[in-house]
Amino acid sequence: MSIRTPLPPGSDPLPDAGSFGPVSDPKAVSEALEAWFRVAARRLPWRDPRSGYRALVSEVMLQQTQVSRVIEAFERFIARFPGPAVLAAAPEPDVLAAWQGLGYYRRARLLHAAARAIVERHGGEVPASAAELEALPGIGRYTAAAIASIVHGERVPLVDGNVTRVLCRLADAPGRMGDPATERWAWRQAGSLVQACAAPGVTNEALMELGATVCVPGTPDCARCPVAHACAARAAGRQGEVPLPKRPARRRTLRWAVLVDAGADGVLLERRPERGLWASMMQPPTVEGSEHDDPAALARTRCERFDAVGSFVHVTSHRDVEFCVFRARAPVSGAPGREAPVRVAQGMLGAHALSNAAWRALEVAGVGVRTPRAARPARRAGPNASTDS
Ligand code: SF4
Repeated sequence: MSIRTPLPPGSDPLPDAGSFGPVSDPKAVSEALEAWFRVAARRLPWRDPRSGYRALVSEVMLQQTQVSRVIEAFERFIARFPGPAVLAAAPEPDVLAAWQGLGYYRRARLLHAAARAIVERHGGEVPASAAELEALPGIGRYTAAAIASIVHGERVPLVDGNVTRVLCRLADAPGRMGDPATERWAWRQAGSLVQACAAPGVTNEALMELGATVCVPGTPDCARCPVAHACAARAAGRQGEVPLPKRPARRRTLRWAVLVDAGADGVLLERRPERGLWASMMQPPTVEGSEHDDPAALARTRCERFDAVGSFVHVTSHRDVEFCVFRARAPVSGAPGREAPVRVAQGMLGAHALSNAAWRALEVAGVGVRTPRAARPARRAGPNASTDS
């Protein structure tokens, strides 16, 4: 095992990933992981009972969403759509409405498309092999491998952010999260483990579980780790330093004006465009601008009289959107080139697919039912922020 000395601040410490060493003794590591997982695994609804469909739904939900939030949504979604055939036959607005609270609605559309492909190509049965799964819409290498190995025992590796972090630490490899060379290296290491192990699904799930619960970002809990004896980063005292964090993405700031027109006859909602952020979802009439735009000037393009009632920042993966909320005191016109807004009774708002940001805007204006998700604290950007996309 090599022990490196710390590099001076400001230097780029990232060597080519081809020079990273391997995870040593993959057989012993996989045995320890499997033994640990059999006693330490969290009880999660998609693990009992297991099926290809339940694994598919949970894996798609877990992409970019915290486990605690997926637990809330999973049972509700499965009760509404108990199998691929029911999901495939459902209208898209119903699927989007059932996805509320999870954000990143593109995933719901892709899951819907995957269900249709499962019905058309596989007679309504979720396929068992990683190759067939990866051919479905929206199913990538990781998700296909997770379902094929965990549900059907196929000997295929998987790598996500948690697994990459665990592997980098086991080998003391100073890769950078999100770097393609680091990811290629991680897939090779995961492949070595899955070839050497007794139960591929258990080893894969144990790696994911270890990264989610013990070998966490920042300071890992090495005292609870079943593979601490084999961990090169821990031996070198570098477990808090590897892997290097992802490079921050360039962010855009937008400013949108929301016109909330609500009364005894209901709340005015319009449908968003079919493409882009929150595609096809419903929202109070909204005028989109840039960070340099005056929000009142934006609002005035669709309504003559209004009162400003508040604002909040909504954080998406690549954008910070400042929502400036107004209560309309005059009729609100439709958006040019889009279907006309409709009035929805307040008690029926929950039947429509609204983003978390749209719910938040209604809440700021003192309208609407506060959903359990909307009431949760935001992930970033302070107490006045909310998230999803
Ligand atoms: S010993 Fe610590 S750093 Fe190494 S794999 Fe275990 S939790 Fe992660």
